[in-house]
Amino acid sequence: MAPVAKRQERAWPKLSEAQRAVLLEVLIHGSRSRADLSRRLGLSRTSLSRLSRELVDLGIVAEGEIRPVAGRGRPSEMLLIRPEAAAFVGIKLTGDALYLAVTDLHATVVHQQEQAIESREVADVVAQIGAAVEALRADFPALAAVGVCLAGDVAGAGDVSGSGDRELIVGSHFLGWDQVPLSDLVREATGLPAVASNDVQSLTAAHHWFGAGVGLRSFAVIGLGMGIAAGIVVNGTIIKGSRGHPGKVGHLPVTAEGPSCDRGHVGCVSAYATAPAIIRNAEADSYADAVRKARVGDRVAQNAFTSAGEALGAAIAAIVNLVDPEKVVVTGEGLPVLELAEAATTRGMRDRLDPAAEPVPITRHEFDFGAYAWAAAITAIRHVV
Ligand SMILES: [Zn+2]
Repeated sequence: MAPVAKRQERAWPKLSEAQRAVLLEVLIHGSRSRADLSRRLGLSRTSLSRLSRELVDLGIVAEGEIRPVAGRGRPSEMLLIRPEAAAFVGIKLTGDALYLAVTDLHATVVHQQEQAIESREVADVVAQIGAAVEALRADFPALAAVGVCLAGDVAGAGDVSGSGDRELIVGSHFLGWDQVPLSDLVREATGLPAVASNDVQSLTAAHHWFGAGVGLRSFAVIGLGMGIAAGIVVNGTIIKGSRGHPGKVGHLPVTAEGPSCDRGHVGCVSAYATAPAIIRNAEADSYADAVRKARVGDRVAQNAFTSAGEALGAAIAAIVNLVDPEKVVVTGEGLPVLELAEAATTRGMRDRLDPAAEPVPITRHEFDFGAYAWAAAITAIRHVV
């Protein structure tokens, strides 16, 4: 394979803090009038006019229609994002496949694809990512950054918000990786700014800006599938933890006796709620088989899902008791738990809430691996904006 060219036809410009603040406001909260922006950002009209002009000159925003301001004589010009100003690549990496999404600056997915991974060796995966990104350049010459997410512990100061420091993939069970400086390697392979993140953290950050968490100050996203993990936003900030390990709800105790998880804990969340646990507890051949059995009334499978729901509820209760979110979003391959055992999930939560805590709405977010790729692209947007 030829070495990947390290060219950047259209690098994302280096923005000042003030420029970023204006862009972020328009990006997350939609088109804004200059008057509104100067009020929200505490900037003078003169400063804001200058910053707007700079962002227009960079091609990132456009000045839109002139909207009359209610109750005032002076009309106000709107600032709008130019979605086509840049494109971002998001990649969800599993032990078997790369799921790619390309988004515009508005986080709208404009392209999706899936590739089987040829090998799990770090160098091979990185080379495959480099080749995939290179192939995208023909159609998306304005590629600005790459985000990669995976089910692993990602440590480092720059993870989800992309504040610049390198991230280490501390461990990825699915890939057999340990201490891999993935963002550095992807940066070298693509010639683009790159950021690596944990997949559930990435999805939580994506929902915070553009999805189910827009407008919420505090919420949590639970990714349920082969494992269970939570991403948590408190007071508008995603919790990163000191070592990249927040939201570990997978081994909380649920029952004093019962099945064990793969770590040997009796009755923990993972002994009931994860896909491998449900397959075992339902005496099924696969997760799809367990779902099918439960739907047709097989008691063993139904009980497996009821227990999974109760365990999921216990995990949610722990988060509610600790951080008091406005809402909990559940997603992942394990969503059938909510469908088949919604009452048990709610009961599992209510039974474990502190008397002072209110039950929170639990909503489901439809899942496919493409959602994680979309989230990784948003992490790339967050990395540069
Ligand atoms: Zn356990």
